[in-house]
Formats: sequence, structure tokens, C-alpha cells
Amino acid sequence: MDDAGALLAALEEARAQAQTRVETFAAVVEGLRDARGDADTDDEHDPEGSTLSWDRATHAASLEAARTSLAEIDAALARVRAGWDGACAGCGRPIPAERLIARPAADRCVRCAARHPR
Ligand SMILES: [Zn+2]
Repeated sequence: MDDAGALLAALEEARAQAQTRVETFAAVVEGLRDARGDADTDDEHDPEGSTLSWDRATHAASLEAARTSLAEIDAALARVRAGWDGACAGCGRPIPAERLIARPAADRCVRCAARHPR
């Protein structure tokens, strides 16, 4: 089926982007961890060194979010590969691909999700 192929391709692309985000944030978090040892010599900036911890917490949260979205995309990919055609679990109409890319964990269209929030 053509639509499933297009959906699969779109999800594959979203997965590649999520993978890149995970790697980017992981590298930043790793870099900030290394930089912490030099924080004492950095007297030009915040003398209490809280900027570094704040940066690290922020990036760690971004990394966590990126990992979550990667896992959701993987789950959506697995569903599509198992034969799911992207039909809404509520009304059976196809969920628009854009919605699935933005919210890969979604199994309902916007209208059904609004009517039955999880
Ligand atoms: Zn629906």
C-alpha cells in the first residue's frame, strides 16, 4: 500500500532526526560533565558555577525528551511494519501522517484524541 510506504518513509526520517538529537544532546551533556572540572578556573562567569549545572540539567532534560521521542517513533515504526495502516483507533479513519510524525505515539486522530483524552 502506497500510504503505508509513505508513512514508513516519513517515520524513518523522523527517526533519523530524533537519533541525531539524542546524539547531539548526549555529546553536549558529556562535554558539560568534562567541563565541570575546569569550572573553578572560569572566573569570568558565574563564580558559583551554577550556570554549568543549570546548562547540564537543561540539556539532560532535552536528552531525555529526545530519547522518549525516539522510543515513540520506534514503537510507531514497529506498528506500521506489523501491518498497521495508520487508521485511528477511535473512528477508523486514517490519521494524517503529519500528526504521526509530530506525535508518533498517537493511535487516534486529533478529533478522537480530543474526545477521549488519555
Ligand atoms: Zn478518529
